[in-house]
Amino acid sequence: MQTVGVIGAGQMGAGIAQVAAQAGFHVLLSDVSKDRADAGKAGIAKALDRLVTKEKMTAEARDAALGLIEPVEGLSAMAPAFLVIEAATEREEIKRAIFAEVGKVLASDAILASNTSSIPITRLAQASPDPARFMGVHFFNPVPVMGLIELIRGLATSDATVAAVEAFGRTLGKEIVHANDAPGFIVNRVLMPMLNEACFALGEGVATVRDIDVACQLGLNHPMGPLTLADFIGLDTCLEITRVLFEGTGDPKFRPAPLLVKYVEAGWFGRKTKRGFYDYSGAEPVPTR
Ligand code: NAD
Repeated sequence: MQTVGVIGAGQMGAGIAQVAAQAGFHVLLSDVSKDRADAGKAGIAKALDRLVTKEKMTAEARDAALGLIEPVEGLSAMAPAFLVIEAATEREEIKRAIFAEVGKVLASDAILASNTSSIPITRLAQASPDPARFMGVHFFNPVPVMGLIELIRGLATSDATVAAVEAFGRTLGKEIVHANDAPGFIVNRVLMPMLNEACFALGEGVATVRDIDVACQLGLNHPMGPLTLADFIGLDTCLEITRVLFEGTGDPKFRPAPLLVKYVEAGWFGRKTKRGFYDYSGAEPVPTR
């Protein structure tokens, strides 16, 4: 049985650990402490219980997947992994410190991959033990539900590394797309300007929150409107990625909408703060403009 390491047991790391275990990999799961890694596994247990309740998974399959997830203390435990996926907090200095530490124990042919949404892969590779065996593996949230992985190669990433991570992703049942190491990769490069434009339109008084969302949902046949989606992703995250696009390309077309900046400055981050373009304090979201 192959062993995969997952560093960071938050939203994304837990999701990655879950799908890897469901695909039959032994998963070493770490976070800043063993308690946090244990909490990540507890969250996975709840998610799997829900699948059993909905009869989308048998109790045996749940127990088998959970039995494959091993919360560990510290990064030295990652030594047996053929692939280590870093899904820690989106801060470059945190990721660099992780790579330095895990690099001390990584097998000489093991691959290190980062789930970063916005930090350039070629730059991160400089902090990895071997840039040829380093790449971006961008999962989507929630990982067990979303069917896509974007693979991002840095300048030095080897073909063998890309092939191995692609094979791993396919084993998880995900569709794979390849992107070069450019700001926002594919999905955020295309999505964020649309969400940002919806913020411009709202700020300029083109239409109300409700009408912008209904127009795009029904007019574009999208599952939800852009302002609903921005609230779901988190307005702080949307602003951060838009800034990465703006600063990474230098192109004014990516400049953040003033209203988006204002909402973030107000601490209105969307669903997670119960206030964004909608108010989430009641039973149903209520548009605020
Ligand atoms: P999160 O805050 O839910 O989880 C991050 C976890 O990393 C936390 O549990 C934290 O304790 C842990 N961590 C921090 N420092 C660590 C260290 N030194 N060693 C080990 N663990 C450490 O964040 P998330 O949403 O899961 O995001 C994780 C990564 O995935 C980020 O790089 C983010 O950009 C990327 N990402 C997020 C999404 C999303 O929609 N949330 C989508 C794609 C990619």
